[in-house]
Amino acid sequence: MEDIEWEYLDEDSLARVTKLELNSKTVYTPSHTTTIRDDQTYSAVVGTNRRTPSINVAGEMLTKSTLDLIGKNIDTANDLAGRLIGKKSTSSRDINFIYPRIPKNYEVKNGEKKTYTSIPKIDELQISSLAHIQLQCSADAIIPPIPSAIRELDLFKDILSRTKNEMQTFKKEKQPMMGYIPNIDDRGLVIKMIEEYLKKPYECRIFGVDFSGSSNNPQLMFTVVSTLREKLKIRKNRGDNERYYLHVFNASVSKKSEKLISPVSDLLTHLYGVDSVSGVIWGGGGGNPDNARYIQISDYGAYRKDAIKGHVNCSCPVCSKYNVEQIYDHAHYLDRLKVHRMSSYREEYNRIAEKIRLGKDKAYSPYVKHKTQTLKDVERIIADVREIKARTGG
Ligand SMILES: [Zn+2]
Repeated sequence: MEDIEWEYLDEDSLARVTKLELNSKTVYTPSHTTTIRDDQTYSAVVGTNRRTPSINVAGEMLTKSTLDLIGKNIDTANDLAGRLIGKKSTSSRDINFIYPRIPKNYEVKNGEKKTYTSIPKIDELQISSLAHIQLQCSADAIIPPIPSAIRELDLFKDILSRTKNEMQTFKKEKQPMMGYIPNIDDRGLVIKMIEEYLKKPYECRIFGVDFSGSSNNPQLMFTVVSTLREKLKIRKNRGDNERYYLHVFNASVSKKSEKLISPVSDLLTHLYGVDSVSGVIWGGGGGNPDNARYIQISDYGAYRKDAIKGHVNCSCPVCSKYNVEQIYDHAHYLDRLKVHRMSSYREEYNRIAEKIRLGKDKAYSPYVKHKTQTLKDVERIIADVREIKARTGG
């Protein structure tokens, strides 16, 4: 079972320091998920041997052939489980979410022409198998296999009860189920999903919102957070109220843009009370170093190679060894940029948690309001948060 404590709350936003206890593991948030599975590699790469326990997302975007055969062919299910286990953290202190993701549609290539087919309705065998695979992988919270483009409430309810059945069959009914919400436009359906998740027998308190690779996603966040707070009767005063944990899947690091400098976005989700966030589980990068971005924490800007010249102020293992030209001028430039980002995020999350703890004039919101590349986005989110608080009586 899970235990969720909100230890410190930011005054202007919904950012918080949460202590999550799940299956005898403890993590503190806000945080970004780890993408390096074992402590040794982490130490070597990030340059510290004191890795704090974190959330790890072992995910895979299901291909058409995998989805077609899942629940029908035992080898397909075992192969998928094997791949997902291979992505789990090897540290027994880390919390693992196992996420076989059902995409919105499939690309069909016919010579040069590309078309898209929608995902057929997911059936009972597929649901049971995808839930079972997570149990097999010892997932710390079971994610109901909701297709990314779901439209019908009835199908959604079927998926929940099938998932719960599977958990009961394997005597795992006490394992928490995650209240998973895909990135869909139908806000009414999102509200109904949350209502269902909160009901018996599910009683979800750990929620996961899928951004599908988008940044910030204010409309969806507004709906999710205001509904959760309203239904759980969360007020400003702390104490007896119900708490929830909120994870965001597949968030983009920065806004998609052709500009040389683009605002960082994943770090801002915490203003909405997001506890942890993970990046996209599918490939990316594009292969052109000119377009790969270097994250600068001092202003929350994601810089393209041509914009970052001479700007670097970072003492991570990569930046203390190479200058910007050298980082980019290498076959493994993406790895180097990733190590830099992980190191600077690690420091930044310590800073954010410290500011939320200190509160008052040293607080988090005034700090984040000074990040010059994200001024507009922060303003928007703070305005949203004010309205959420006003609506839910906090
Ligand atoms: Zn660096």
